[in-house]
Amino acid sequence: MAHQWRGVIREYIDRLPFQESDPIITLGEGGTPLIEAPALAKLLDVGSVHLKFEGMNPTGSFKDRGMTTAVSKAAAHGAQAVIAASTGNTSAAAAAYAVKAGMQSVVLVPAGKISWGKLSQAVAHKAQILQVRGNFDDCLRMARDLSENYPVFLVNSVNPDRLQGQKTASFEVVDVLGDAPDLHAMPLGNAGNISAYHLGYREEVEVGRIKKLPRLFGIQAAGSAPFIQGSPVAKPETIATAIRIGNPASWDLAQEAKRDTNGGFGSVTDKEILWMHRFLSQETGVFVEPSSATGAAGLYKLAKQGELPKVDRVVVTVTGHGLKDPDWALKDESGRKIKPKKVSATAQAVAEVLGLERNK
Ligand SMILES: *Cc1c(COP(=O)(O)O)cnc(C)c1O
Repeated sequence: MAHQWRGVIREYIDRLPFQESDPIITLGEGGTPLIEAPALAKLLDVGSVHLKFEGMNPTGSFKDRGMTTAVSKAAAHGAQAVIAASTGNTSAAAAAYAVKAGMQSVVLVPAGKISWGKLSQAVAHKAQILQVRGNFDDCLRMARDLSENYPVFLVNSVNPDRLQGQKTASFEVVDVLGDAPDLHAMPLGNAGNISAYHLGYREEVEVGRIKKLPRLFGIQAAGSAPFIQGSPVAKPETIATAIRIGNPASWDLAQEAKRDTNGGFGSVTDKEILWMHRFLSQETGVFVEPSSATGAAGLYKLAKQGELPKVDRVVVTVTGHGLKDPDWALKDESGRKIKPKKVSATAQAVAEVLGLERNK
Protein backbone atom coordinates (compact mmCIF):
# COMPACT_ATOMS: atom_id res chain seq x y z
CA MET A 1 0.00 0.00 0.00
CA ALA A 2 1.24 3.44 -0.88
CA HIS A 3 1.94 5.52 2.19
CA GLN A 4 0.35 8.96 2.26
CA TRP A 5 2.35 11.78 3.83
CA ARG A 6 0.53 12.66 7.06
CA GLY A 7 1.47 16.32 7.48
CA VAL A 8 4.40 17.71 9.45
CA ILE A 9 2.98 17.21 12.96
CA ARG A 10 2.40 13.47 12.60
CA GLU A 11 5.53 12.89 10.51
CA TYR A 12 7.77 14.59 13.10
CA ILE A 13 5.70 14.26 16.25
CA ASP A 14 8.67 13.20 18.40
CA ARG A 15 10.41 16.45 17.45
CA LEU A 16 7.45 18.76 18.08
CA PRO A 17 5.52 19.87 21.19
CA PHE A 18 2.58 17.58 20.35
CA GLN A 19 1.16 14.21 21.32
CA GLU A 20 -1.06 11.90 19.24
CA SER A 21 -3.97 12.66 21.59
CA ASP A 22 -3.80 16.43 20.88
CA PRO A 23 -6.07 17.98 18.26
CA ILE A 24 -4.11 17.94 15.01
CA ILE A 25 -5.39 20.23 12.28
CA THR A 26 -3.68 19.30 9.03
CA LEU A 27 -4.10 19.57 5.27
CA GLY A 28 -1.14 17.26 4.62
CA GLU A 29 1.46 20.06 4.48
CA GLY A 30 5.21 19.43 4.16
CA GLY A 31 6.96 16.60 2.34
CA THR A 32 7.65 19.08 -0.47
CA PRO A 33 10.04 18.16 -3.29
CA LEU A 34 13.74 18.98 -3.15
CA ILE A 35 14.47 19.46 -6.83
CA GLU A 36 17.97 19.39 -8.28
CA ALA A 37 18.58 22.41 -10.50
CA PRO A 38 21.75 21.91 -12.58
CA ALA A 39 21.13 25.10 -14.57
CA LEU A 40 21.25 27.15 -11.39
CA ALA A 41 24.33 25.25 -10.14
CA LYS A 42 26.07 26.17 -13.39
CA LEU A 43 25.01 29.81 -13.10
CA LEU A 44 26.34 30.03 -9.55
CA ASP A 45 29.39 27.86 -10.27
CA VAL A 46 28.81 25.51 -7.32
CA GLY A 47 28.71 21.71 -7.10
CA SER A 48 24.94 21.35 -6.85
CA VAL A 49 21.80 23.32 -6.11
CA HIS A 50 18.55 21.88 -4.86
CA LEU A 51 15.36 23.93 -4.78
CA LYS A 52 13.09 23.25 -1.81
CA PHE A 53 9.81 23.89 -3.60
CA GLU A 54 7.50 25.15 -0.87
CA GLY A 55 4.90 26.18 -3.42
CA MET A 56 3.87 22.51 -3.32
CA ASN A 57 2.23 22.93 0.07
CA PRO A 58 -1.59 22.73 0.23
CA THR A 59 -2.18 26.49 0.05
CA GLY A 60 0.90 27.08 -2.10
CA SER A 61 3.47 28.42 0.36
CA PHE A 62 5.64 27.36 3.30
CA LYS A 63 3.25 29.17 5.66
CA ASP A 64 1.24 25.92 5.89
CA ARG A 65 3.99 24.29 7.98
CA GLY A 66 3.58 26.87 10.71
CA MET A 67 -0.17 27.12 10.34
CA THR A 68 -0.80 23.43 11.10
CA THR A 69 1.02 23.83 14.43
CA ALA A 70 -0.42 27.27 15.26
CA VAL A 71 -4.02 26.33 14.50
CA SER A 72 -3.68 22.94 16.24
CA LYS A 73 -2.53 24.76 19.38
CA ALA A 74 -5.36 27.25 18.97
CA ALA A 75 -7.77 24.29 18.84
CA ALA A 76 -6.22 22.83 21.99
CA HIS A 77 -6.90 26.18 23.70
CA GLY A 78 -10.52 26.05 22.56
CA ALA A 79 -10.14 29.10 20.31
CA GLN A 80 -13.14 30.07 18.17
CA ALA A 81 -11.31 32.49 15.91
CA VAL A 82 -7.78 33.11 14.68
CA ILE A 83 -6.33 36.40 13.51
CA ALA A 84 -3.36 37.10 11.25
CA ALA A 85 -1.63 40.08 9.71
CA SER A 86 -0.48 39.14 6.27
CA THR A 87 1.19 40.13 3.04
CA GLY A 88 -1.01 37.41 1.53
CA ASN A 89 0.26 33.90 2.11
CA THR A 90 -0.29 33.85 5.86
CA SER A 91 -3.91 34.88 5.30
CA ALA A 92 -4.39 32.15 2.68
CA ALA A 93 -2.99 29.54 5.09
CA ALA A 94 -4.81 30.88 8.17
CA ALA A 95 -8.12 30.89 6.30
CA ALA A 96 -7.74 27.33 5.01
CA TYR A 97 -6.59 25.83 8.33
CA ALA A 98 -9.33 27.71 10.21
CA VAL A 99 -11.91 26.07 7.93
CA LYS A 100 -10.37 22.66 8.66
CA ALA A 101 -10.56 23.43 12.40
CA GLY A 102 -14.13 24.77 12.23
CA MET A 103 -13.01 28.24 13.32
CA GLN A 104 -13.55 31.73 12.00
CA SER A 105 -10.52 33.56 10.59
CA VAL A 106 -9.83 37.27 10.51
CA VAL A 107 -7.07 38.60 8.31
CA LEU A 108 -5.58 42.07 8.14
CA VAL A 109 -3.89 42.87 4.84
CA PRO A 110 -2.28 46.07 3.55
CA ALA A 111 -4.83 47.69 1.20
CA GLY A 112 -3.97 47.18 -2.46
CA LYS A 113 -0.70 45.40 -1.73
CA ILE A 114 -1.71 41.78 -1.88
CA SER A 115 -1.78 39.66 -5.02
CA TRP A 116 -5.21 38.62 -6.27
CA GLY A 117 -4.25 34.93 -6.17
CA LYS A 118 -3.70 35.14 -2.43
CA LEU A 119 -6.71 37.36 -1.83
CA SER A 120 -8.88 34.85 -3.72
CA GLN A 121 -7.74 32.09 -1.37
CA ALA A 122 -8.71 34.03 1.74
CA VAL A 123 -12.08 34.86 0.17
CA ALA A 124 -12.62 31.25 -0.93
CA HIS A 125 -11.99 30.04 2.62
CA LYS A 126 -14.45 32.64 3.97
CA ALA A 127 -11.98 34.64 6.01
CA GLN A 128 -13.16 37.99 7.30
CA ILE A 129 -10.79 40.15 5.31
CA LEU A 130 -10.03 43.70 6.29
CA GLN A 131 -7.88 45.86 4.06
CA VAL A 132 -5.91 48.15 6.31
CA ARG A 133 -4.88 51.61 5.17
CA GLY A 134 -1.30 50.96 6.16
CA ASN A 135 1.49 48.47 5.53
CA PHE A 136 2.18 44.97 6.87
CA ASP A 137 3.90 46.34 9.95
CA ASP A 138 0.72 48.26 10.87
CA CYS A 139 -1.34 45.11 10.33
CA LEU A 140 0.89 43.08 12.65
CA ARG A 141 0.80 45.71 15.39
CA MET A 142 -3.03 45.71 15.24
CA ALA A 143 -3.29 41.89 15.16
CA ARG A 144 -1.10 41.64 18.26
CA ASP A 145 -3.17 44.25 20.06
CA LEU A 146 -6.44 42.54 19.13
CA SER A 147 -5.21 39.10 20.25
CA GLU A 148 -4.14 40.52 23.61
CA ASN A 149 -7.44 42.26 24.30
CA TYR A 150 -10.13 40.32 22.43
CA PRO A 151 -11.05 36.62 22.05
CA VAL A 152 -9.01 36.00 18.88
CA PHE A 153 -5.92 33.77 18.68
CA LEU A 154 -2.82 35.19 16.95
CA VAL A 155 -1.27 32.92 14.29
CA ASN A 156 1.52 35.16 13.00
CA SER A 157 5.10 33.91 13.27
CA VAL A 158 5.60 35.90 16.49
CA ASN A 159 3.59 32.95 17.83
CA PRO A 160 6.36 30.42 18.67
CA ASP A 161 4.18 27.49 17.52
CA ARG A 162 4.63 28.76 13.96
CA LEU A 163 8.41 28.36 14.07
CA GLN A 164 8.03 24.87 15.52
CA GLY A 165 6.10 23.81 12.44
CA GLN A 166 8.34 25.65 10.01
CA LYS A 167 11.54 24.07 11.39
CA THR A 168 10.45 20.76 9.84
CA ALA A 169 11.65 22.01 6.44
CA SER A 170 15.22 21.60 7.73
CA PHE A 171 14.45 18.04 8.79
CA GLU A 172 13.16 17.25 5.30
CA VAL A 173 16.28 18.65 3.62
CA VAL A 174 18.45 16.44 5.84
CA ASP A 175 16.16 13.44 5.24
CA VAL A 176 16.69 13.76 1.49
CA LEU A 177 20.35 14.84 1.26
CA GLY A 178 21.45 12.63 4.14
CA ASP A 179 23.36 15.64 5.45
CA ALA A 180 23.09 19.41 5.71
CA PRO A 181 23.98 21.46 2.63
CA ASP A 182 26.98 23.80 2.89
CA LEU A 183 24.84 26.85 2.28
CA HIS A 184 21.09 27.42 2.41
CA ALA A 185 19.50 30.61 1.05
CA MET A 186 15.97 32.00 1.14
CA PRO A 187 14.00 35.24 0.86
CA LEU A 188 13.95 37.30 4.05
CA GLY A 189 10.90 39.28 5.12
CA ASN A 190 9.50 39.10 8.62
CA ALA A 191 12.36 36.63 9.32
CA GLY A 192 10.29 33.78 10.74
CA ASN A 193 11.46 31.37 8.08
CA ILE A 194 15.23 31.82 8.45
CA SER A 195 14.79 31.60 12.23
CA ALA A 196 12.85 28.36 11.85
CA TYR A 197 15.44 26.78 9.53
CA HIS A 198 18.13 27.73 12.04
CA LEU A 199 16.14 26.10 14.84
CA GLY A 200 15.59 22.98 12.75
CA TYR A 201 19.23 22.58 11.72
CA ARG A 202 20.43 23.22 15.27
CA GLU A 203 18.20 20.42 16.50
CA GLU A 204 19.57 18.15 13.77
CA VAL A 205 23.07 18.81 15.13
CA GLU A 206 21.87 18.08 18.69
CA VAL A 207 20.40 14.71 17.74
CA GLY A 208 23.53 13.88 15.72
CA ARG A 209 21.94 13.68 12.27
CA ILE A 210 24.31 16.36 10.92
CA LYS A 211 27.73 17.50 12.07
CA LYS A 212 27.67 21.15 11.14
CA LEU A 213 25.16 23.87 10.38
CA PRO A 214 24.70 25.14 6.84
CA ARG A 215 25.55 28.81 6.31
CA LEU A 216 22.16 30.52 6.27
CA PHE A 217 21.67 33.38 3.82
CA GLY A 218 18.61 35.64 3.93
CA ILE A 219 18.01 37.91 0.95
CA GLN A 220 15.84 41.02 1.01
CA ALA A 221 14.36 43.25 -1.67
CA ALA A 222 16.43 46.43 -2.02
CA GLY A 223 13.46 48.72 -1.35
CA SER A 224 12.57 46.78 1.77
CA ALA A 225 15.87 45.83 3.35
CA PRO A 226 15.99 46.66 7.07
CA PHE A 227 18.62 43.95 7.71
CA ILE A 228 20.97 45.64 5.23
CA GLN A 229 20.20 49.14 6.48
CA GLY A 230 20.59 47.96 10.08
CA SER A 231 17.30 49.50 11.23
CA PRO A 232 13.58 49.42 10.36
CA VAL A 233 12.46 50.85 7.01
CA ALA A 234 9.45 53.17 7.40
CA LYS A 235 8.04 52.82 3.87
CA PRO A 236 9.08 49.48 2.38
CA GLU A 237 8.54 49.21 -1.39
CA THR A 238 9.02 46.23 -3.70
CA ILE A 239 7.04 44.21 -6.22
CA ALA A 240 7.96 41.19 -4.05
CA THR A 241 4.93 41.79 -1.83
CA ALA A 242 5.53 38.73 0.39
CA ILE A 243 8.70 40.36 1.72
CA ARG A 244 7.51 43.96 1.71
CA ILE A 245 8.17 44.32 5.44
CA GLY A 246 10.01 47.20 7.06
CA ASN A 247 10.11 46.11 10.70
CA PRO A 248 10.77 42.34 10.89
CA ALA A 249 9.29 40.67 13.99
CA SER A 250 12.02 38.03 14.28
CA TRP A 251 14.89 40.52 14.07
CA ASP A 252 17.01 39.07 16.89
CA LEU A 253 16.47 35.45 15.86
CA ALA A 254 17.55 36.23 12.30
CA GLN A 255 20.68 38.04 13.49
CA GLU A 256 21.43 35.00 15.63
CA ALA A 257 20.90 32.65 12.64
CA LYS A 258 23.40 34.66 10.62
CA ARG A 259 25.98 34.88 13.40
CA ASP A 260 25.70 31.28 14.52
CA THR A 261 26.02 29.82 11.00
CA ASN A 262 28.57 32.24 9.55
CA GLY A 263 25.79 33.20 7.14
CA GLY A 264 24.86 36.45 5.53
CA PHE A 265 22.21 38.95 4.50
CA GLY A 266 21.93 40.43 1.04
CA SER A 267 19.58 42.49 -1.06
CA VAL A 268 18.55 42.54 -4.69
CA THR A 269 16.59 44.98 -6.83
CA ASP A 270 13.13 44.21 -8.19
CA LYS A 271 14.75 43.87 -11.61
CA GLU A 272 17.15 41.21 -10.33
CA ILE A 273 14.24 39.41 -8.64
CA LEU A 274 12.21 39.35 -11.87
CA TRP A 275 15.22 38.18 -13.87
CA MET A 276 15.65 35.19 -11.54
CA HIS A 277 11.89 34.61 -11.48
CA ARG A 278 12.06 34.11 -15.24
CA PHE A 279 15.28 32.07 -15.09
CA LEU A 280 13.74 29.61 -12.62
CA SER A 281 10.65 29.15 -14.82
CA GLN A 282 12.57 28.87 -18.08
CA GLU A 283 15.69 26.97 -17.01
CA THR A 284 14.69 24.84 -14.01
CA GLY A 285 10.99 24.14 -14.63
CA VAL A 286 10.01 25.56 -11.25
CA PHE A 287 7.41 28.34 -11.31
CA VAL A 288 7.48 30.53 -8.22
CA GLU A 289 6.02 33.86 -7.21
CA PRO A 290 8.46 36.78 -7.65
CA SER A 291 9.23 37.06 -3.91
CA SER A 292 10.30 33.43 -3.92
CA ALA A 293 13.03 34.07 -6.49
CA THR A 294 14.79 36.46 -4.12
CA GLY A 295 17.05 33.86 -2.45
CA ALA A 296 18.44 32.60 -5.75
CA ALA A 297 18.72 36.16 -7.08
CA GLY A 298 20.82 37.10 -4.04
CA LEU A 299 23.21 34.19 -4.55
CA TYR A 300 23.56 35.05 -8.23
CA LYS A 301 24.42 38.64 -7.34
CA LEU A 302 27.09 37.43 -4.89
CA ALA A 303 28.46 35.02 -7.51
CA LYS A 304 28.74 37.80 -10.10
CA GLN A 305 30.61 39.95 -7.57
CA GLY A 306 32.92 37.02 -6.74
CA GLU A 307 31.58 37.09 -3.18
CA LEU A 308 29.72 33.78 -3.05
CA PRO A 309 31.51 31.59 -0.48
CA LYS A 310 33.30 28.61 -2.06
CA VAL A 311 30.78 25.89 -1.31
CA ASP A 312 29.80 22.59 -2.86
CA ARG A 313 26.21 21.83 -1.93
CA VAL A 314 23.58 24.56 -1.94
CA VAL A 315 19.87 24.51 -1.08
CA VAL A 316 17.60 27.41 -2.00
CA THR A 317 14.10 27.59 -0.58
CA VAL A 318 11.58 28.87 -3.09
CA THR A 319 8.81 29.89 -0.77
CA GLY A 320 5.59 30.18 -2.79
CA HIS A 321 3.92 29.01 -6.01
CA GLY A 322 3.99 31.00 -9.25
CA LEU A 323 0.20 30.80 -9.57
CA LYS A 324 -0.11 33.02 -6.49
CA ASP A 325 0.90 36.07 -8.48
CA PRO A 326 0.84 35.04 -12.16
CA ASP A 327 0.72 38.51 -13.74
CA TRP A 328 4.51 38.78 -13.70
CA ALA A 329 4.93 35.78 -15.94
CA LEU A 330 2.74 37.46 -18.55
CA LYS A 331 5.11 40.39 -19.00
CA ASP A 332 8.36 40.42 -20.97
CA GLU A 333 11.63 41.93 -19.77
CA SER A 334 10.56 45.44 -20.69
CA GLY A 335 7.20 45.04 -18.95
CA ARG A 336 5.13 44.54 -22.11
CA LYS A 337 2.18 42.16 -21.96
CA ILE A 338 2.84 38.76 -23.52
CA LYS A 339 -0.07 37.49 -25.60
CA PRO A 340 -0.04 34.12 -27.39
CA LYS A 341 -0.50 34.47 -31.17
CA LYS A 342 -3.88 33.71 -32.73
CA VAL A 343 -4.05 31.28 -35.66
CA SER A 344 -6.78 29.76 -37.82
CA ALA A 345 -7.88 26.24 -36.92
CA THR A 346 -5.63 24.23 -39.25
CA ALA A 347 -2.43 22.29 -38.66
CA GLN A 348 -0.85 24.09 -41.60
CA ALA A 349 -1.45 27.50 -40.04
CA VAL A 350 0.29 26.39 -36.84
CA ALA A 351 3.20 24.86 -38.77
CA GLU A 352 3.64 28.12 -40.67
CA VAL A 353 3.76 30.22 -37.51
CA LEU A 354 6.25 27.78 -35.95
CA GLY A 355 8.35 27.75 -39.12
CA LEU A 356 8.12 23.97 -39.41
CA GLU A 357 8.83 22.17 -42.66
CA ARG A 358 6.61 19.25 -43.67
CA ASN A 359 8.22 15.77 -43.12
CA LYS A 360 9.64 14.25 -46.34
C1 LIG B 1 6.11 34.81 4.13
C2 LIG B 1 6.86 34.70 2.87
C3 LIG B 1 8.22 35.05 2.78
C4 LIG B 1 8.99 35.67 3.90
O1 LIG B 1 9.19 34.81 4.99
P1 LIG B 1 9.52 35.43 6.43
O2 LIG B 1 9.34 34.31 7.36
O3 LIG B 1 8.53 36.52 6.63
O4 LIG B 1 10.91 35.95 6.35
C5 LIG B 1 8.87 34.85 1.58
N1 LIG B 1 8.23 34.36 0.51
C6 LIG B 1 6.93 34.02 0.56
C7 LIG B 1 6.29 33.50 -0.67
C8 LIG B 1 6.21 34.18 1.74
O5 LIG B 1 4.92 33.85 1.76
